[in-house]
Amino acid sequence: MASGKGHLVAGMIFALVGLHLFSHYFYVPTYLDMVIYVSLALMFSVWPDVDTKSIGQKFFYSVFFLTDCYLIYQEQYELAAYLGLLIILPILAKHRGWTHSVWAMFLIPSPLLLYPVLKGGSLDSFNLSGVPYYASALTGYFSHLLLDGKFTPWK
Ligand SMILES: [Zn+2]
Repeated sequence: MASGKGHLVAGMIFALVGLHLFSHYFYVPTYLDMVIYVSLALMFSVWPDVDTKSIGQKFFYSVFFLTDCYLIYQEQYELAAYLGLLIILPILAKHRGWTHSVWAMFLIPSPLLLYPVLKGGSLDSFNLSGVPYYASALTGYFSHLLLDGKFTPWK
């Protein structure tokens, strides 16, 4: 089982490989976007372990705290509230339980994908701007499950 540091390193490697492939096949993101993508991947590469005292927990809650302050400053109260809700969940779970499952990998980052879509209101303004963020989060999450030997979709 990898440590928090191991997960961050793996998350970084996966994020950079993902970013390379993405900019090769789709478009080259701005530097700010790249920073956001890599940060998301790193956050989710340690997220499954936030239910225990770990480097991952410390890192994640620090990033969360800064992000939440920023959202509140930007008066994005709804987003801040959803993020807060998400943060509480792992504490309620037993370690290496559902946070280490494949369905959680798809479900937990899904607000990144769904929020802009639902916020759009109508189908005319169907908003897929969350896709790169969701993909970044999935990349990080996937690296964690793989490293923990928990990526077993066939189970
Ligand atoms: Zn783990």
